[in-house]
Amino acid sequence: MKHDRFIVPANTKINLKDYDPAYTDGLTDKAAAQAELQQGVQRLAKYQDILYAQDSYALLILFQAMDAAGKDSTIKHVMSGVNPQGCQVYSFKSPSSEELDHDYLWRSNRALPERGRIGIFNRSYYEETLVVRVHPELLVHQKLPPEANGKEIWDKRFKQINHFEQYLVENGIVVLKFFLNVSKEQQKKRFLARINEPEKNWKFSVSDARERQHWDQYMEAFEDVFNNTSTSYAPWYIIPADHKWFTRLAVSDIIVSTLKSLHLSYPTVSEVRRAELLEAKKVLESEE
Ligand code: ATP
Ligand code: MG
Repeated sequence: MKHDRFIVPANTKINLKDYDPAYTDGLTDKAAAQAELQQGVQRLAKYQDILYAQDSYALLILFQAMDAAGKDSTIKHVMSGVNPQGCQVYSFKSPSSEELDHDYLWRSNRALPERGRIGIFNRSYYEETLVVRVHPELLVHQKLPPEANGKEIWDKRFKQINHFEQYLVENGIVVLKFFLNVSKEQQKKRFLARINEPEKNWKFSVSDARERQHWDQYMEAFEDVFNNTSTSYAPWYIIPADHKWFTRLAVSDIIVSTLKSLHLSYPTVSEVRRAELLEAKKVLESEE
């Protein structure tokens, strides 16, 4: 699969309307896509094993989307083969009072993956330029001093986030950013399914329907995010999300090729270490 069409190029102004949520790259066979996803899952498991053994890079994968775009199920399917010890998922909710007492990147810093690990952010510090922008009253809780809370606050946050991500990347934390692009119509269908099917009721919250009323404001905020924070070192990927099987396949494919591009390898064994291993072998073999 070619990934170019999903990447938001750096220093370019895109229009979200040009990205089709129902795109499937010409694929129509869901079963074939699922089989391909299984291969992706296996390759991801293999790369993760080497990432962990090499203990040098970390991979941060973050997901942003409107409700019901499929963040949870994409994470579940794409990561289904990886060793849980090498992977951590962190879901960012409304900040607690302790978190609000700190700068807005504080809680993200604490949740960053260790070397050798894959860290997943289910929502992220980008909420600080999305939900907080759509609902300016949330900014009031942050008690920012006036000079930090001017009209330029969003541009400042974009700049701060770019610097933060550059810092991460320059320190071996690879940053992948996915926007799951669901259409407003498809969201409605999924909400109705959550209401109509008892085993899905728990997934629906009244606040999700309320956020839907701000759809256009969210799309504008997202567009501004992509146009200001898609960089050469930490690009945004806009993933079509009206067909979940395609979303999973595309995300899996991009993660796998990102890991591949790192040319990971198992640590090589030094002469001294090799001698140690042979010595241990001798001892074991000489046991009764
Ligand atoms: P799901 O509904 O699938 O469990 P979710 O990510 O929608 O997953 P919720 O608990 O429903 O989880 O919603 C989390 C809420 O927290 C979202 O409405 C999101 O906008 C909000 N949130 C996340 N980060 C921030 C932030 N920095 N400031 C304000 N609100 C935030
Ligand atoms: Mg929710």
